[in-house]
Amino acid sequence: MSLLVVKNLRKSFDGLAAVADVSFELGAGEIVALIGPNGAGKSTLFNMLSGQLRPDGGHVGFTGSDITGLPPARIARLGIGRTFQTSGIFASMTVRENVQVAAIAGHRQAFRMDRPAVRFSEAVADALLHQIGLANVANTGAGALAYGDAKRLDLALALVNNPVLLLMDEPTAGMGLSERAALMALVRDTARARNTAILFTEHDMAAVFATADRVLVLDRGALIANGGPDAVRADARVKAVYLGEDV
Ligand code: ADP
Ligand code: MG
Repeated sequence: MSLLVVKNLRKSFDGLAAVADVSFELGAGEIVALIGPNGAGKSTLFNMLSGQLRPDGGHVGFTGSDITGLPPARIARLGIGRTFQTSGIFASMTVRENVQVAAIAGHRQAFRMDRPAVRFSEAVADALLHQIGLANVANTGAGALAYGDAKRLDLALALVNNPVLLLMDEPTAGMGLSERAALMALVRDTARARNTAILFTEHDMAAVFATADRVLVLDRGALIANGGPDAVRADARVKAVYLGEDV
């Protein structure tokens, strides 16, 4: 059974189709890139999957249940996480405290800040910070982090409640090329270790092809390719969309 089944999903703004009749599936633990030029509809598609936007039509199935149009909090609780491009970070707290708060907030008995909960969340936070290479800045104020570390903290906050699928819309925005490759390699290794499926967008093609098991290509709202990195790279329609670029 597929983890995620997207069927004929569509969304228009002012009569213009941002996402038009898009269908695809994701398997458990699969790492998939969603690429396409600016305005292709990538963020609109992400926002429908995470519940931020209600689709005009079509269906989203997750682990066998219909989640189409559910509110974001319910979708998150079902196991679809997303990154927030550092806006979810509390600058006045330490790195560890940020992860602890996210861990406690994700639990059903939300915001029980009693001592067992805090101790449990501290252990969870430290294990995760170790896994993503932030153990050495656990006691640093999150507001003082270098940009690349803030992006990694964003990843930790998204992973702490063990999503089955993690949506990452431009996780490397604002980073240099080598930093991008390093962050995406970390995402890939961490996802593999936890069997977390990832759907991500990324502009740098080298990072896309080094990270993704499979690549989906959107062009003006339509899915024009869906396949392995080599097949997508060789696809004539994809080449036409990326004319002049080194795909
Ligand atoms: P991408 O993420 O691939 O760059 P988007 O999903 O952000 O593309 O945008 C797809 C299209 O939908 C664009 O033409 C964009 O202008 C339009 N669009 C996106 N969000 C809105 C909105 N909230 N209101 C009106 N138009 C929107
Ligand atoms: Mg976008």
